[in-house]
Amino acid sequence: MKGVINSFQSLGTLDGPGLRYVIFMQGCPLRCINCHNPETWSLDGDKYDLDDIYARIMRYQNYICNNGGVTISGGEPLLQWEFIAELFSKLQKSGIHTALDTSGIGDLNGAKEVLKYTNLVICDLKFSSQEEYSKNCKADIGRVLNFIELTEKEKIPLWIRHLIIPGITDTASSINAIVKIAKGYKNLEKFEFLPFKKTCIPKYKELGFPFPLEQNDECPNTLIEKLAKSQMIPLLTHFND
Ligand code: SF4
Repeated sequence: MKGVINSFQSLGTLDGPGLRYVIFMQGCPLRCINCHNPETWSLDGDKYDLDDIYARIMRYQNYICNNGGVTISGGEPLLQWEFIAELFSKLQKSGIHTALDTSGIGDLNGAKEVLKYTNLVICDLKFSSQEEYSKNCKADIGRVLNFIELTEKEKIPLWIRHLIIPGITDTASSINAIVKIAKGYKNLEKFEFLPFKKTCIPKYKELGFPFPLEQNDECPNTLIEKLAKSQMIPLLTHFND
């Protein structure tokens, strides 16, 4: 079986617990206004054989087997759910912790297959209403919430991430609405606010696309620290500068 992959990060520390081998899959059906990885949108790209990827990961086994693991991100990894289910199954059999980093969009039956072999789900909850989802990433919030409910039903530990974009998601009512939704899930382990940054602008220039938020302010890290202190939920903060 082959997967279309954008890139690899051999020892990441931001996408799940411990040291992690991170794979960024190619392909995403959304077009979020804040997207930092527009180079992953297309499903065209380099194809890799699953056994080769497994062998590549196992070269790092000694680094990732203690408290770390493998994270699959994207793009939207659930577009290639068959590949991920198969890879995660193989990894779990080898005692490797598996994390799925997703926007929660994708085929729910495919997601069910992946979740059978997933130790942790890291899900973006981008907005709290359908209106905002439609306007800012052309997605259906119902699909995202159905996916998160599935992780709850399957009792998979859940981390929720939410990006703070000045002028768009930084109002008290917006933040309170997101936190309220997140707190409603029994499997929520961590909640993470991320600050909006514009480090992706060179990628857009290279691809020849306009970055919709080029004129918006970045989110100061101090605001994230302030939010972290004010929210009574398990909170994780780091800064993807
Ligand atoms: S879901 Fe992620 S990869 Fe897809 S458009 Fe949105 S931010 Fe970009």
